[in-house]
Amino acid sequence: MNGISGRLSKVRSRLRAACESSGRDPEEVTLLAVSKMHPAASVRSLFELGQEKFGENRLQEALVKQDELDDLPIEWHFIGPVQSNKTRDIAARFDWVQSVDRNKVLQRLSSQRPPGFPALNICLQVNIDSEPQKAGVLPHAAMALAEQARALPGVRLRGLMSIPRFEPDPERSRASFVRLSALFQQLCAAGFELDTLSMGMSADLEVAISEGSTMVRVGTDLLGQRPSKSDTP
Ligand SMILES: *Cc1c(COP(=O)(O)O)cnc(C)c1O
Repeated sequence: MNGISGRLSKVRSRLRAACESSGRDPEEVTLLAVSKMHPAASVRSLFELGQEKFGENRLQEALVKQDELDDLPIEWHFIGPVQSNKTRDIAARFDWVQSVDRNKVLQRLSSQRPPGFPALNICLQVNIDSEPQKAGVLPHAAMALAEQARALPGVRLRGLMSIPRFEPDPERSRASFVRLSALFQQLCAAGFELDTLSMGMSADLEVAISEGSTMVRVGTDLLGQRPSKSDTP
């Protein structure tokens, strides 16, 4: 099984160990497998091993893979930049969109969610380090965007997602995770019923879990190095 099985067990034990050392129930942390740049066959192998949630960041690539895998009840998460001319397909083909960062996209996803589908699960992507040119709503504007989401019938706000500034030492991302976690608590205290704090990737999932992550998004450590680096967010 070309190493996938071993990698999955390893990531699962990292999740368990991270939960244990921060006194959390492993049931609280969901693993999202990020399959961008990897073939449908790898997704199928992981699915057969019990991994049912997958994230993709490019629409065209995702649609082809979804067609190849449409015999499997996969839960698909869109985690890439959302261009407003792509919202119709995203609203129709995904269960979750974790990368919503502006009202226009919210409006379109809500109105384009096909009739009869459950509301589209969304997370607001937060630019937690306020980096110029980086996707995501700025922390101070997140509450207002959450309020706009609440008014829309076609979307259901589940939480926040962030990709902190790249740090070679994952410990140096801790402050960003702490800030995202605080913002999440602030929204909950304001009456938003959120259950998803999506933070942590291959390199820093332990730190993210110790700061309250409920969903880690793992690509490289599950599926191996991607063929190109051009997809880094
Ligand atoms: C690619 C990607 C990941 C996975 O990153 P790895 O370092 O390969 O685990 C997680 N989240 C987002 C939004 C991504 O684009």
